[in-house]
Amino acid sequence: ESTTDVVLGIDDVAVHYGGIKAVDGISFDITRGKIFGILGPNGSGKSTLLAAVTRLTPLTRGTLTFEGEPFAKVSAQKVAKLGIARTFQTVRLLPDLTVRENVALGADLGAEQGGMRELLLGRKALLNRSRDAVAEALERTGLTGLEDIRPGELSYGLQRRVEIARAIAMSPRLLLLDEPTAGMNKSEREDVTSLLKKLREEGLTQLLVEHDVQMMVDTCDTLIAMNFGVLIAQGKPQDVVREPSVQEAYLGK
Ligand code: ADP
Ligand code: MG
Repeated sequence: ESTTDVVLGIDDVAVHYGGIKAVDGISFDITRGKIFGILGPNGSGKSTLLAAVTRLTPLTRGTLTFEGEPFAKVSAQKVAKLGIARTFQTVRLLPDLTVRENVALGADLGAEQGGMRELLLGRKALLNRSRDAVAEALERTGLTGLEDIRPGELSYGLQRRVEIARAIAMSPRLLLLDEPTAGMNKSEREDVTSLLKKLREEGLTQLLVEHDVQMMVDTCDTLIAMNFGVLIAQGKPQDVVREPSVQEAYLGK
């Protein structure tokens, strides 16, 4: 594959919090149109790595490139405008806003200006400006018809889906998903898996962090496993999960 096919390049990235080496020298490339997975037990540094990529935490060392351009010094706000969207490990919807308004805020994160400031100035302008992006995001995530509902009235599974819609609404070229199926039942998890696969068919490159081994094997094109901030295995998902180091990290063997 040529370098132009690399959407996200991570090279020797480390994030240390005092003496804690949360992430300690991770390198990988994510190819366009693929789902790249990160598997690892609690505390292995997965969320910290996503925070480094979205510039929410400073790097101790290493380089980040997006479509060939270094961006390790770019602010979190500018990362969204570059075309990198994310969902968080816990639901972060605004409870007093409707589904439409929550998703519209996402659309605005990718726009030149707006976001919370626009919301304070008036919801109407925000909703008008982002109408098409919001409608498309809701359609792509199977949420059409729920526009006027508040998140608290939706099932947990649907709330998480709204979060994905909010990220999609900014038309990202890379979507980072931090445990999108955490706390879900089996059928909700399967719904998310099919949604992510559908988004891949539509061309969306994804970085997926999950606990669920079977889901990762079913969903990802490439998988890495992390433990204690370092990469312990990398390759085809079905091979990675069989590696003794990965089995040991998971099962304590
Ligand atoms: P994971 O997402 O894989 O469960 P995290 O990235 O959340 O792991 O955490 C990795 C390690 O870094 C853990 O030991 C965690 O306690 C530590 N850590 C994460 N964020 C901070 C922080 N802001 N300050 C200090 N330590 C942190
Ligand atoms: Mg985490």
